[in-house]
Amino acid sequence: MAQSLDAAQLIADDKKYVWHHLTQHKVFEKSDPTIFVEGKGMRIKDIHGKEYLDAVSGGVWTVNLGYANETLAKAVSDQLMQLCYFANGYGNIPTIQFSKKLIEKMPGMSRVYLSNSGSEANEKAFKIVRQISQLKHGGKKYKVVYRNRDYHGTTITTLSACGQEERKNQYGPFTPGFVEFPACSAYRSPYPAGTANLGEKFARELETVVQKEDPDTVGAVIIEPITAGGGVIVPPEGYYETLTEICKKYGLLLIIDEVVCGLGRTGKWFGYQHFNVKPDIVTMAKGVAAGYAPISCTVTTEEVFQDFIADPSDRDSYFRDISTFGGCTAGPAAGYANINYMEEHNVLDNVVKMGDYLMDGLKALEKKYEIIGDVRGKGLFCGLELVKNRTTKEPVSEAVAGAVVGECMKQGVIIGKTSRCFRELNNTLCLAPALIATTAEIDEILKALDNAFQVVKA
Ligand code: PLP
Repeated sequence: MAQSLDAAQLIADDKKYVWHHLTQHKVFEKSDPTIFVEGKGMRIKDIHGKEYLDAVSGGVWTVNLGYANETLAKAVSDQLMQLCYFANGYGNIPTIQFSKKLIEKMPGMSRVYLSNSGSEANEKAFKIVRQISQLKHGGKKYKVVYRNRDYHGTTITTLSACGQEERKNQYGPFTPGFVEFPACSAYRSPYPAGTANLGEKFARELETVVQKEDPDTVGAVIIEPITAGGGVIVPPEGYYETLTEICKKYGLLLIIDEVVCGLGRTGKWFGYQHFNVKPDIVTMAKGVAAGYAPISCTVTTEEVFQDFIADPSDRDSYFRDISTFGGCTAGPAAGYANINYMEEHNVLDNVVKMGDYLMDGLKALEKKYEIIGDVRGKGLFCGLELVKNRTTKEPVSEAVAGAVVGECMKQGVIIGKTSRCFRELNNTLCLAPALIATTAEIDEILKALDNAFQVVKA
């Protein structure tokens, strides 16, 4: 298929008509863009017929079951032929089946609200917090605390809750009522090495911010279970216990953004399920339909849902929100097929096994190459933080991290890195292969990295 296309014309048209995500114009003008044409499993082909192994599941950790998964593709096409769409408060079968199945995987959670993107799912969560503030707290408890280095989306309000400075630049003024608390990176901890109870110390920073803001005005905290694009940061032990205690003490809703980790990426259905924590709201998107249809969910406890029936005589007290394409049935059909497929093929077990295998391989590389300052992650989601000097932990430049990505690409392996999140810390490589990865595929990724580190110097 790829060979019969007029590659030169398509590349020219790409350069002329398409505005690419996250791409600087001056870089794009001079580049020879990579245009993908087809994929099977973890392998994809570009327009020139060159084959790549995809170690980032579609660039942004989404295609969790690989390309051309017949079960998911068929579930979507069958559903589209049966009933493609209906919204505005009416029901449809895939939404019901998917919601029930999803809630089975989330003990303690109760209601599923559908929309299209991670940003939108988080926007819904913020609207829920604000409306509960109006319904129960006279409008006073509306603020949301977010964490430095976390990302929750690209809309103006989700950017208002963004802990990555370079994503926010030039898009202000932002929505009021969003306040930041510090990140929880053990590797870049402000506390001296060997500090006891590090997780608790990091979480207490939330309390400091809540007290400063006035607890009566703070309604919620939002965090990623494991900071993803901000550098693959797994909170230290004890973090979630203290965070939970603080949320209870000050009556804060806990929103967990599972847009990246949700649906198996870390070896459990959800990232938060590795920790001792009970969220009030969970948002998710990428892995829900594994790239076979756009869908996102805002899932709440029954308590949150019931808050909206506080005063039935009040015309405004229900969630006055709609998402046009939350009525598209392809998303829930794919989501339902995805969960069933994962169960039938023991995908979570594979993530745990392959995640350990990948981590062992990365630790071996860390021993071999000084440039690797830290290796971390959970399941099939790993980060390698690159440094100029292991003692000072001075980060390598974005260009050096980019050179490692480029060297892997030359060998036909696509890896990722933190992209333009920060001024100084775009130095973490990210690996998120499909959840169906085999040892042979992991070996290929490790080999490409090994070769790249022989060439690229800090
Ligand atoms: N939340 C997290 C943790 C993300 O990583 C992303 C996107 O990468 C989003 C939210 C936003 O999702 P979307 O791009 O689908 O709006």
